[in-house]
Amino acid sequence: MTQTAAPQVGHLINGELTGSTPRAVHDPGRLDDVVAHVAVGDEQDVNRAVRAAHAAYPGWRSTPSAERAKLLFAAADALAASTEELAPLLVREHGGVGWEAQTDFGLGTGVIQHTVSLLEDFLSPLTIDDEQCSIQVTKAPRGVAAAIVPWNMPVVLTMLKLAPALATGNTVVLKPSPFASAALTLALQRMAAVLPPGVLNVVHGDGDVGAALCRHPLVRKVGFTGGTATAQKVLEATSPTIKNITLELGGNDPAVLLDDVDVDSTLDGLVKGVYTRSGQICFAVKRIYVPRSLYTRFADAFCARVDELVVGHGLDPQSSFGPLNNEAQFKKVQDILDRTRNSTAQLVQLGRKLDASTWENGYYVLPHVVKDVEHSAPVSCEEQFGPVVPLIAYDDEEQALAWANDSEYGLCSSVWSADPERGLAFAERVEAGSTFINSHSFDSLDPRMPFGGIKQSGLGREFGVPGLSAYVEDHAVRRLK
Ligand code: NAD
Repeated sequence: MTQTAAPQVGHLINGELTGSTPRAVHDPGRLDDVVAHVAVGDEQDVNRAVRAAHAAYPGWRSTPSAERAKLLFAAADALAASTEELAPLLVREHGGVGWEAQTDFGLGTGVIQHTVSLLEDFLSPLTIDDEQCSIQVTKAPRGVAAAIVPWNMPVVLTMLKLAPALATGNTVVLKPSPFASAALTLALQRMAAVLPPGVLNVVHGDGDVGAALCRHPLVRKVGFTGGTATAQKVLEATSPTIKNITLELGGNDPAVLLDDVDVDSTLDGLVKGVYTRSGQICFAVKRIYVPRSLYTRFADAFCARVDELVVGHGLDPQSSFGPLNNEAQFKKVQDILDRTRNSTAQLVQLGRKLDASTWENGYYVLPHVVKDVEHSAPVSCEEQFGPVVPLIAYDDEEQALAWANDSEYGLCSSVWSADPERGLAFAERVEAGSTFINSHSFDSLDPRMPFGGIKQSGLGREFGVPGLSAYVEDHAVRRLK
């Protein structure tokens, strides 16, 4: 496995990398390995970054949209060009495997390109003309936009905010997660180099830095992805200054198998949907509902497939998935496994350790399946965010639908059926931001579909036109004739 020197990563303010008091970032798969040294900011750093973004705003806003589009396509090229060098660094700091980090960079690049391709049509003004007056409605940027992101897919989750914000003429201050900030910032530094100084800024740090951004009076928009409890703090911190917000939060996605399903055809998709990124994806499959008549057959086949998974360091191509990202996450997953082990449900540990001798030197967890479990069990109701999934037997479709919808969350969901029309009829009754038929993973995403959650999974949508709309205000002008 390759190891390179640990880079020093500062804040990116007004086109320059700055910042002192760096903190060592450790590899979650080799805890004694320091991956990078990243600056830790405070309220003053936030203020400097926001003021730089605010100073750059008039010039960027008045840059013709075609010129902004050209610069953002060049920024997307810079991101794509950095993938080969920076994806391995991302693997070492956030614990994913190689293809997951590559996917993160690839999706991020695609999001910029797709968003910018929509810009010309999106910005064309609405006009109304009659004998009395003419009305023009244009889409104006909001000003300085703050983007706050988690660690699990840091590149694409950043680009989902940065691309629509910058394309429409806002300037940006980003706060990455301290658990995955180095590779992202080095990529952003290359992207910022093709943009005017101050248009794209980055401040590192913990929750207090995010909170300072949310409070700052010059920040007019907050795009946040993270946990629901943190989002409640974002709502509180933004309320005194009435900022526009988009919240992409946690989920407890159900996958419902209908009774006509071909069990074998579901296995690859469901294993991928549950265990990719060690289960640490907001829209991972987090509970599977199986018709009682198919339960034993499905559970046996699913467990056999999960048993083939190999857990190890992300840089080793033999690893199916890597360690969990951080200690708190590790303890959270151990806690739900302990509670399940001490319940009436059957917790099955599967898979294989790639290297047992280094297992204790990382936040590794083998894949687990929970059988004979109730819909009301904690492992079914909580967002486990780890490599464990409950298989819940149901008696009829109405019960499956009621249970799928019985959640405080509503991010994504899926229905699996041999009959696409039957799948669609079921999908239409599921309460969620998105429902996929016969898939439920990265390959289910389509930038033409809005992405976001209902209930406590969030507010607003990212991707495509809804994503662009989140960063503009309508400005209506009426002229009498
Ligand atoms: P988190 O909520 O702990 O942190 C997210 C970001 O918010 C980090 O940058 C963090 O430093 C910052 N933050 C912490 N306290 C803050 C505060 N008071 N004010 C402002 N910012 C603050 O989440 P996490 O542990 O990094 O990520 C895991 C969670 O994110 C899971 O619940 C997961 O489902 C969710 N998630 C959602 C999506 C989505 O698109 N819906 C995508 C990925 C992850």
